[in-house]
Formats: sequence, structure tokens, C-alpha cells
Amino acid sequence: MPNSENINVTPQNIIYRVRVAVPVFLYDCFDYKVSAEQYAQADVGMRVAVSFGRQKLVAIITEKLAIDTPIDPRFQLKSVTEFLDDRAILNDKVLSLLTWAAHYYQFPIGEVMQTALPILLRQGKPYNLLARIWKVLDLNAEDKVKRSEKQQEAYKILKLHPQGTQENILNLSGIETATLKALEKKEIIICDLEPQNFKPEPVSLAQMPLTANEDQKKAIQTILKAQKKYQAFLLDGLTGSGKTEVYLQVMQEILKQGKQVLVLVPEIGLTPQTVSRFQSRFHCNIALLHSGLNDTKRLQAWQHSETGKASIILGTRSAIFTPMPHLGLIILDEEHDLSFKQQDGFRYHARDVALYRAHLENCPIILGSATPSIDSYFLAQQGKLTRLELNQRAGTAIMPKMHVIDLKISKKTAGLSEQLISEIGKRLEKKEQVLIFLNRRGYAPVLICESCGWQANCPHCDAHFTLHLKPYSHLHCHHCGTINRLPDACPACNQNTLKPIGMGTAKVEEALNELFPKYPVVRVDRDSISRVGSWQKIYDQIQKSEPTILLGTQMLAKGHHFPYVTLVAILDIDAGLLSVDFRATERTAQLIVQVAGRSGRGEKKGDVYLQTLRPDHPLLNILLDKNYRAFAKQTLADRKIAEMPPYRYAVLLRCESKSQDENQTFLTEMTQQLRLNSEENLIDIWGPIPAPMERKAGRYQAHVVLLSHDRAKMHFYIRQWWQYVLQQKPSQMKLTIDVDPQELS
Ligand code: ADP
Ligand code: ZN
Ligand code: ZN
Repeated sequence: MPNSENINVTPQNIIYRVRVAVPVFLYDCFDYKVSAEQYAQADVGMRVAVSFGRQKLVAIITEKLAIDTPIDPRFQLKSVTEFLDDRAILNDKVLSLLTWAAHYYQFPIGEVMQTALPILLRQGKPYNLLARIWKVLDLNAEDKVKRSEKQQEAYKILKLHPQGTQENILNLSGIETATLKALEKKEIIICDLEPQNFKPEPVSLAQMPLTANEDQKKAIQTILKAQKKYQAFLLDGLTGSGKTEVYLQVMQEILKQGKQVLVLVPEIGLTPQTVSRFQSRFHCNIALLHSGLNDTKRLQAWQHSETGKASIILGTRSAIFTPMPHLGLIILDEEHDLSFKQQDGFRYHARDVALYRAHLENCPIILGSATPSIDSYFLAQQGKLTRLELNQRAGTAIMPKMHVIDLKISKKTAGLSEQLISEIGKRLEKKEQVLIFLNRRGYAPVLICESCGWQANCPHCDAHFTLHLKPYSHLHCHHCGTINRLPDACPACNQNTLKPIGMGTAKVEEALNELFPKYPVVRVDRDSISRVGSWQKIYDQIQKSEPTILLGTQMLAKGHHFPYVTLVAILDIDAGLLSVDFRATERTAQLIVQVAGRSGRGEKKGDVYLQTLRPDHPLLNILLDKNYRAFAKQTLADRKIAEMPPYRYAVLLRCESKSQDENQTFLTEMTQQLRLNSEENLIDIWGPIPAPMERKAGRYQAHVVLLSHDRAKMHFYIRQWWQYVLQQKPSQMKLTIDVDPQELS
């Protein structure tokens, strides 16, 4: 018997519907009505405008509903306001990737989809923006550009392309928009707006590859055997062993077949150097995708990837979600780097997403690092990653020698031991460069009163204020951003006995300027570098081969190539040796090896000096006597005994509210629910416990850590439980779930 609903289905009263992902913090997708014509045209991966509650939002079609799909009686069915695209702009593979990621990281699909779109498309702007094309107007303007090197350069390039060149391509070649505008003002060139050309461009070799050494050859050949199928490689190569050359030679083969290569790097700071290496090797269209671009540039780069115009796509974390019709290879450089993990909102790990994407796209993926993560070594042990070693430094460079300086028995000036100061002096006199690493910006991390012991603490956090002297004297909390003025006298006892304790990069800079007045000190930290452009200046200075002191934080530790640095000093890593986080030693070991790897990359041999109060720490011993791989092996053994990740899978629930009691009461009740509603002994529940920094920005933080050997089952139970937790949660409490957390803070 047909039921009554079916009898009513006649062409006149069919309700055509699409299901869409809406950018709101809700785990469901929602259905909207469309006309028969719209239905015919609709495709998953298109943007539509919809009204949602009182908002007008840009949503993505995730499903064209079959006409007999039952209507959900809970919601009033509204119509789609407008179709924003005439074709799908997220392809099937990217949609599958996003759906998987939303499910795996337990984050609302609508918000996850937003991550894949450039801002202008999220805002509902039309796909086809007009491109700015620059053309030469005056063919004899050499005299008019004589006075500016930049204008000369731009003019020369533009003259080579009489048909005109897109502004974003010119920008990639280092020609700034400001220079173009200046030439326009002089009426030497003009700007046309033209429809963008999205045709793929041919690729050719601009420069011969280097002759690969034995290790490189073996790696290249092994990877190339895996073309056109999924295989994941871990390129485990010492710092300076020529990993990039391996990437370039593998890319060459893939590009030759008209395919696209996606290269992910941890930070924007690394992109200029990488871009220039790719550009000098290949003539092809490179799209750059990172947060330092303005919205239009980012949209253009995204479109070049999505249409296949760009052959190489170079980007940071979120570029992993960019559609590419001909993806043939993924490279993720510095795979151990923490910035591949998003630390707020949608907390995905680009490395794991990249592995899944390569699997979906059926293409090889290379994870490269001199200090692979313990997680990746584990995957290699299980046969899920094929490990390839590069054991020689490329060219004539050899590995630097490590020395430990015991701070307990050394005389110091501003935290620099006498021995170190003398070594720095020697290097500079020999016209070599020195790199000093200190992972603490500002002038001093603590301000105390010598008379009464008062300390300048942030009123909103369990943390000291950091003292900054520039651009003006102030106290700054690096955790919540609070800024206070610097008191003239001690607020507790009114004496003039306030004293900075410890050192930050600004203080060391001051000391170095006094100790070595003849030499420039270049400081690299978040206070001195704010834009991509500032990196370029630093590179220029470093490539000049003049004696220079480079001083900086974490930012300096990443894969940069500093050919003239022969001495590296690490001033203080003791905090990393003493931290409670089970991954702290891994991070510290990576940092030491990476910073050390900046030394002796040119023709001269390098040295590394490590200052510490704990010269006998086992981590230092294993790194000094053996190497990072021995350290990794030991760490895997330790984690196995402790049953910590990667031997068990983790999920971290973070909770934040106005009171720690409230956190504890709520979390205790919730963890009991989880115990009742999952299999016995499946999930090990730790907590609730106060977070390592219990109070931050005036709110109290607590954690629950969940661990299990069975990832799929644990995720299954947590997924149901998490929906329950969100329903029960008091309104002013903030809860987040972090699948495979990287930091327990
Ligand atoms: P990594 O990425 O492993 O740190 P790089 O790729 O930056 O190392 O290589 C370090 C240096 O060695 C670069 O200057 C590079 O040009 C050079 N190099 C790499 N491979 C070779 C080779 N086969 N022969 C000569 N020089 C090489
Ligand atoms: Zn005092
Ligand atoms: Zn604070």
C-alpha cells in the first residue's frame, strides 16, 4: 500500500530541497527549498545565500536531497535566497576531506567549510573578480626611472611582456604594488582590469638540478616509484642535508606531467626563501597562500589553485583545504612544527589532514624534517610511513660541534657567560656571523622589589608581567595582553628598589650592543618583526656575509638557511627541561637540534654553545653523546611504558568559567556520565584537574584528559557524550574539545 504522502507527490507539489552547511556553531546541516530550475542547476560544493534565524549567511550545498526525502517537521522550511556560484567551487575530494575533518575533530561542519574558503568568498563576493593587468605605455622611459632601482627593475620586467602581466605575478617576483602605482603616476605604465585567465600554464626548468648525492638519489627514486598512488614518506634528513633538493627533483617529475604540487610550510616567515628557491628552479605559476596576504591576493591565489592555473601551491596550515583539480604530490616541510596544529576553534592538525588528503587524492606525500615528531617515528615503525634518511650534509658542510656551558659555575654579563662572550668575539673578528637564541621576548620576564619581595604580576592571570622598555616602558602580560604602566616605586613598600630579574631578547640586545659596539645586532622576535616584508630585510643583511649578531626567539629556529653563521648559542632552555607537559622534552630536543642546525651550513665548520643550569640532564646527554634519532628511540620507549601518545590516543576537554568550583562540579558530573555510557576500561579518564595556568584573563581553566588504545571506539563514545555535554553546559562556561591535543595547556 502506498502511504498517503506518496499519493500526494505530483509534479505540481514536489518540494525541491538542498541540504547546506551554515557557518554557525551547530552540528547539523539544514534543508532549504529551491525552485525546479535551481534544483536542476544545484551542485554540491556551490555557495548559496540563506536566511538563518535573523541572519543572512553564506552556506555551502552539501547534498541535493532526493525528492522523497522526508521533511524534518521540527523546522520551518525556508527558500534559498540566492545562488552565488554557477558551478561547484569546492570539489568532491575537498568536500570529503572537510566532512571527514569535521567528524574526526568533532567540530561543526559549517564552520569547518569556512576554513576552506578565502574571506571574500565567505562573504559571498562573486567568484570572478577582475584581474589587474599592468602594461607598458611609454617604451622609452629609461631616463624617467633612472633614480629608483625598484622602478627600473619593474620597468625592465614589464617591457619584456608587452601583452601585460597580472599584478599578483609581479608581486611574487618581488615587485611591489606601490612601485607600479608610482610608475603609473608618471604615465609610464597603465593598469587594465581584465577577466582573469585561469588557464593552466606550462612548466619548464629554469635551472639545472644539482647532482644528487647517494642518499638524495635513493630518496628521490623511492618516492618516484610511488607516483599516481598513495604512499606516505618521512624524509628524515639532518639539518642542511639537502631535503629541499629532494623535494625539487621529485616535484620536477610531477610537474612535468601537468600535475600540481602542494607544499606546506609552518610559517609565513619561511615562504619568501622557499618561493625564491622554487622560482629559480622552475618557470611556472606559483600560488602563495598565507595569512599575510590581503583578501584580494588570497582569493586570487586560491582561484589559481582551484582552477589548475597554478602548478605549485605554497602555503601555511589552512592551505591543506584548497581545492586543486590535478594534485599529484603533497610536501609538508618541517613536519614536527607545532604551527601545523591549529590551537583554537577548529583544532585540526594539518599533518594528519594532509595524510588523509593524499589518501583521498591517491598521490604520494612527503613529510620532511631534521627532527621528526615522535608521532611520525611511531607511524614509521608501524609501516604507515616509509622512512628515508639523509645522513650527509650536502656540499662541503659538516655537522656543528655541541658544547655545554654550566651556568652554575660561570661568571655572567646579562645572562651571557664569559666563555660565550669570548667565543662570540673571536667569531666576529674572523668576520663570521653569530646567532643567539633566547625564547623570551621583552626586556625581563620578572620585576621584583628588592626590599620587600613584591612582584609585578598580572591581576588577571597566574603569571608575571614581562617588562618592556620599548617603544615605552610598560608591563605586559604575554598571556592575556594586559598592559600596565611601570610604577616609579614599589607599590607595596614605596621604596625605589624595583629590579628586573632574568633576561629577554631586548635586554640581551642591549648587552650585546655594549659588548660588541662595532658589530650590528639584528633582533628577530614578535616585537621586531610584524610583517612579511621585515623578513626580507633580515635575509638581505644575512646574505651579505658581513660579521653580524643575530638574536632571536623561536622565529629564528625554523628551517632558515644562514650560510655565514658559524656560532650558535642557546641561552636558556631550562624551562623546557622542567615542564610538566609530556611532550616538552620532545619540543626542547627539536628546538636545540634545529637551532644548532643553523650553524656551519656554509663552508666553515660550526659550533653550538648551550648554556644551562642542568648540564647533567639526560636529554642533553643523549643529544650530545648520540643524536636526535637516539633521543627519539628513547622517548618512544618511555612513552610506551607510560602508555602516553602515540601509544594511546588522547582527547582533551578544556573548560573555562568564572569559578574553579563550578568547573570541577560540572566536569565531575560529566565524566561520570562518560564512565556510565561507554565500555568499561575503554577510556582512561584523568581529571578534572586545574590547567597548568589555572587562571588566565580572569577566568579559571580546568582539563579532562581522555586516553584509550582504541581510537575509533573512544571517538565514537566521546562524540555522543560531547553533544550531551554541550547541552548540559551552563551558559557562561566555555568548553572546547581537542582531538589529538599537542599541548596540555
Ligand atoms: P635542508 O632542507 O635539509 O636543511 P637544504 O636543502 O637547505 O637542506 O640544503 C642545504 C644546502 O646544501 C643548500 O645550499 C643546497 O643548495 C645545498 N645542496 C643540497 N643538495 C646538494 C647537492 N646534491 N650538491 C651540492 N649542494 C647541495
Ligand atoms: Zn617593595
Ligand atoms: Zn594576564
